[in-house]
Amino acid sequence: MVIVLLGPPGSGKGTQSLRLVKHLGIPHISTGEMLRAARKQNTAEARDIAEHIDSGRLVSDSLIMRLVEERLAGTDCEKGCLLDGVPRNTTQARMLDDLFHRRGWVLGHVVALDVPRTELVSRLVERAKVQGRTDDTPETVSRRMEIYEQETAPLLKYFTDQGTLKRVPAVGSPEEVFRRILAAIGGQAASCRCRE
Ligand code: ADP
Repeated sequence: MVIVLLGPPGSGKGTQSLRLVKHLGIPHISTGEMLRAARKQNTAEARDIAEHIDSGRLVSDSLIMRLVEERLAGTDCEKGCLLDGVPRNTTQARMLDDLFHRRGWVLGHVVALDVPRTELVSRLVERAKVQGRTDDTPETVSRRMEIYEQETAPLLKYFTDQGTLKRVPAVGSPEEVFRRILAAIGGQAASCRCRE
């Protein structure tokens, strides 16, 4: 079974993903991490990726889906995985549906982390001081928020209609949020399988 974690920048997706994959024993597939690794190469594609990340825009759907499809072909993904950062828009959601269909995989849970906007902004300001991510500048953060609202938030309806969405308030301590996530997915974690 595949789990998708959705949430705006600053919602704690990265932190909660790390806890979840440790608890569930499944691989963590973070498109942000994959792209941050890919941008380090000395190729035209890497420069294009860096430009998109640093301006807060999404990289192309075809590039993302190629990276994700390659990664999901890894044997470690056979027992399931956690997708963090994808899908990011309805086109990617449809492309993933299609990929899962071709492989006979089941999209188990989609967990959406809910955080009030004012809280997000203060978290990102803090993160900028600590982590120094190149895309945590004020202009890029506000572009990423805008893109989340316009392109990613519609996925909440998409997955509600599919019947897979679980919304989790992501305020409070990381431990509290983690417990809410486990409760939302029914804790049936450890025995997740892609194929059912
Ligand atoms: P955050 O959720 O805090 O914005 P991520 O690490 O998930 O951070 O993503 C960082 C950047 O990587 C995004 O702003 C975007 O440029 C790019 N990116 C990540 N995932 C995708 C995706 N699925 N489609 C397109 N671009 C993506």
